[in-house]
Amino acid sequence: TVTAERPLEVEGLRKSFGGITAVDGASFHVEGGTLTGLIGPNGAGKSTTFNLITGMLSPDEGTVAFNDEDITGMEPHAIANKGLVRTFQIARELEDMTVLENMMLAPKGQRGEKLWRSVTPGVRDDVIAQEEELLERVWDVLEFFDIDHIADEYAGNLSGGQRKLLEMARALLTDPDMLLLDEPFAGVNPSLEKRLLKHIHGLKEQGYTFLLVEHDMDLIMENCEHVIVLHQGRILTEGTPADIKSNEEVIEAYLGG
Ligand code: ADP
Ligand code: MG
Repeated sequence: TVTAERPLEVEGLRKSFGGITAVDGASFHVEGGTLTGLIGPNGAGKSTTFNLITGMLSPDEGTVAFNDEDITGMEPHAIANKGLVRTFQIARELEDMTVLENMMLAPKGQRGEKLWRSVTPGVRDDVIAQEEELLERVWDVLEFFDIDHIADEYAGNLSGGQRKLLEMARALLTDPDMLLLDEPFAGVNPSLEKRLLKHIHGLKEQGYTFLLVEHDMDLIMENCEHVIVLHQGRILTEGTPADIKSNEEVIEAYLGG
């Protein structure tokens, strides 16, 4: 994966819901190949920021650039196509499908669509070759996450942690450059959390970029090289974990609610 120096650049992002301003002029960027943390008290605007970046919501003001291209207001699938993805919880209707089936469905309408479109109509051998290529990638990703042994298990029967692994595996299948993770460790036991973190660090070594929302401050401080603090829809401060830990304003924002 080829990563820009600054894959993500957010400028003056603003979004209100009725009288509530959820994101209030936030500007920040994420450096390529880093695991950057986005933290802030409950209601600070973290999830809304993710929704604005990934096209789930359109901003009232401001811009989002990905790999030096303005992607503000683009459809979520178009943004995913560009290599910027977020993880999604396994939807109800996918619970009755196996892990393997979930994976085979994942790239549809995303990067994998290019793969399907490139097939010359009527040339069946090509279709089979493409399907085999997809299947090969699916197995690679399943193996990477150590969930290849549960490929035939129904998604609805997975443990909370296995589900999280599948969610990340599905996101990876589209071959993104950057992943946005919104509390990926929620409901995950400590040993699986460790495994997920190991995978994230492994992917980072390969050049993937991560923006991580997580409420466990120790986890953020131990794993991120850069931390951005959101408070009341604005960037309060950003810096290394050491900077953030000793920042009086951050302590105040958390203790002050
Ligand atoms: P965080 O993820 O940091 O906890 P959110 O982005 O979810 O914060 O929410 C920021 C603020 O925006 C909160 O006050 C929340 O209640 C409000 N909010 C978020 N989404 C909506 C929505 N769809 N409609 C109305 N208010 C919303
Ligand atoms: Mg949230």
